[in-house]
Amino acid sequence: MTFDLRPARNPLSMEGEKTMNENIIKRNALLAQKVIKGLESRNMSGYYAATREEAVALALSLIPEGSSVTMGGAMSAHEIGLVEAIKNGNYHFIDRDAYADKREAMLLSYDADVFLCGANAITQDGVMINIDGNANRVSAIAQGPKKVVFIVGMNKVCDDVDGAIKRARNVAAPINAQRFGLSTPCAKTGSCMNCKSPDTICCQILVTRFSRHKDRIHVILVNDTLGF
Ligand code: SF4
Repeated sequence: MTFDLRPARNPLSMEGEKTMNENIIKRNALLAQKVIKGLESRNMSGYYAATREEAVALALSLIPEGSSVTMGGAMSAHEIGLVEAIKNGNYHFIDRDAYADKREAMLLSYDADVFLCGANAITQDGVMINIDGNANRVSAIAQGPKKVVFIVGMNKVCDDVDGAIKRARNVAAPINAQRFGLSTPCAKTGSCMNCKSPDTICCQILVTRFSRHKDRIHVILVNDTLGF
C-alpha cells in the first residue's frame, strides 16, 4: 500500500500531450487513501499507483510466476499494458477468445489462480459495483478464482453506492452497449432507460461490499482515467 504525494509523472505527460493538473494528482492521491481505508475495512486490499507503469509493477508483484490468469471486462488492465505483460511473461494465460467452446473457457476461468478485471464504479468507502450481461465477470468476482486483481482508474470513484450504480448504468453500460453493437435504449440515448431489452447488459448487478476471504480481492487504484 503506497501513499505517495510527490508530484507524479503522469502517464499522459509525454511531450506534446496534456499533463494532468498537479492539483488533480494531489486530490487523487488523497482520495485513494480514503478508498484504500474503506477496502481494508471490508477485508480487501487496496493500493495506489501514481502511474500506469507503477500499476503494472504492483499487479505483477501480486501474481506469482506460473499462475493461471484469466480476465473479464479488463479494459483498464489492457490500457496500462498489464494484459500484454501477462501474455509475454511466465504465466498460463487463459484466453477466452482462443476457445471455440466458451463454456469450457468459462469453467477454466473459475478455477484460475488469478482473475483480472476492472470495476464499473467504486465508492469512496470501498464498495465496488459491477454490472454484467452474461455474468461470467461478476460471478468470477464473487466466487471461483483464488485471487481477483482489480485495475481501477480514479475516474471510477463515486461518492456512494447510489452514485456508483448510476455511474455503472449511465456511463459504463451505454458505452459498452455501443462497443458491442447491442440494441439497447442506452446505446441510442447515452443513458440508462431501465430496459428489459433482450440485449440488456444489466442482467446482474454485483455489489462487492465485503470479502469473506482475506487476501482474495486486491484493488489497484491508478492515478489516471481508465476504462469506461
Ligand atoms: S438497463 Fe438497459 S438501458 Fe439501462 S444501462 Fe442497462 S442495457 Fe442500457
